Amino acid sequence: MLLDETMGGIRSVFDSAAQKTAGAIENSRGYVERAKLRAALNDAYRRLGKAEYEAAVNGVSSMDEINALMQKISELRRQMLDNERGMQRGGTMTCPTCGKLNSSEDAFCPACGTQLR
Ligand SMILES: [Zn+2]
Repeated sequence: MLLDETMGGIRSVFDSAAQKTAGAIENSRGYVERAKLRAALNDAYRRLGKAEYEAAVNGVSSMDEINALMQKISELRRQMLDNERGMQRGGTMTCPTCGKLNSSEDAFCPACGTQLR
């Protein structure tokens, strides 16, 4: 009887630890994905800046390239939002504006005030 209760208690501790581990793995995948998206986004912003600069300096408008980069940036930003939402299910989420890790309970980022949900 006492042993059963003890075993039940141990089992529930293990179950809870397993759930937390699964959540942590889910979140670490999210961080890796997020880092890749952020790198791609930074690259797209850099190329957009270069295209804008060259258009201004040379007086030649390369609107095709600029539009393509802007579309790419919009797509990457959408993917980052999806990534945030996925991580939100894990109990924490990273602010898309300042990068602070917040609880998924937060409606606004306490660091910068960005609306989180
Ligand atoms: Zn923030």
